[in-house]
Amino acid sequence: MDELCMCRLLVVKRTAWTENNAGQRFVSCVKGWNGCNYFRWTDPPVCARGRAVISGLLRRIERNEECCYIWFAEKD
Ligand SMILES: [Zn+2]
Repeated sequence: MDELCMCRLLVVKRTAWTENNAGQRFVSCVKGWNGCNYFRWTDPPVCARGRAVISGLLRRIERNEECCYIWFAEKD
């Protein structure tokens, strides 16, 4: 079922990647904070263990990306 925000626009589905809500999906106004600020979680909160695992993985990805960036920079 299509869900509309206060602007009468179709909401967008996103996934949160913040430390406290990693992996939890939500719907929000397509215009974000510039729109009507419509926001609703569509998933139940991620358990503490799940959050710890996801944020650990995110930190590893960030480190790897830094790594690759340096590697590419040195190639030039
Ligand atoms: Zn809106």
